[in-house]
Amino acid sequence: MGMFSRDRCEGRTPEQLAMMRTAGLLVGRTLDLLATSVQPGMTTQDLDALAEAHIRDHGGVPNFQLVPGYRHTLCTSVNAEIVHGIPGGRVLEAGDLLSIDCGAEVAGWNGDAAISLVVGGREAASAADLELIDDTEASLWAGIGALRVGGDLYDVGAAVEDSLTEAGRRRGREYGIVEDYVGHGIGTSMHMDPQVPNYRVSGRGPRVVEGTTICIEPMVTLGDQDNTVLEDEWTVVTKDGSRAAHWEHSVAVTEAGLHVLTALDGGEQRLAALGLRYAALAPA
Ligand code: MG
Ligand code: MG
Repeated sequence: MGMFSRDRCEGRTPEQLAMMRTAGLLVGRTLDLLATSVQPGMTTQDLDALAEAHIRDHGGVPNFQLVPGYRHTLCTSVNAEIVHGIPGGRVLEAGDLLSIDCGAEVAGWNGDAAISLVVGGREAASAADLELIDDTEASLWAGIGALRVGGDLYDVGAAVEDSLTEAGRRRGREYGIVEDYVGHGIGTSMHMDPQVPNYRVSGRGPRVVEGTTICIEPMVTLGDQDNTVLEDEWTVVTKDGSRAAHWEHSVAVTEAGLHVLTALDGGEQRLAALGLRYAALAPA
């Protein structure tokens, strides 16, 4: 469709990948802290404060604050909010579907990741929400698994879409895959070229090169993917009120294998379960 530029993937050196792992791990650990801390009665601002303190205490800068016009550490998107929800006084309730997007810059290198969960734990969740969350996360890993040096970057979106189509067929529903927001390159800035569609696009994409670092971030709804931005000029919500999930990882691609920069274990376990090659990185 020619909507996306055919920018090249930029390769990072082993030293640069090690620096990106430091940033990515801080993001992963911050999200882990939030996932274990969140409970009914907290506000999204409480989570934001927790995240900012954790990032700064570990030598990082919340890189969302480097985005012009944004002064928070997280985006917190609840229920029908897809992405870019602004932390504030909203009190979280058991059963809320919460997506948390977090980023950090450490020594000039960036990490960016997102998780979705149900406030109050899986017991507080509807079956449909759990399926949405799990299927969206699985589609992220399917996209990660499509990455290889010499491959086409657009294979990522095709793999994400196929994963969700298949999961939907199994569940007896058709997921909405949000097309208005895409993944991206990452490195010395959080958002860099090239764009990484989280769905199938026609034509050839950029070639993945040794040391490519990108973010894959499927946003998926239980209804239609049609969306609109609220009056706050940030929060993206589904038009039909259906609930949405969002998962994201920053990933490094090398000849030796993949390293999921924002996963606590670098993705080792999940990549192995998928039959994919994990690559350790040189220490920073
Ligand atoms: Mg993000
Ligand atoms: Mg991102």
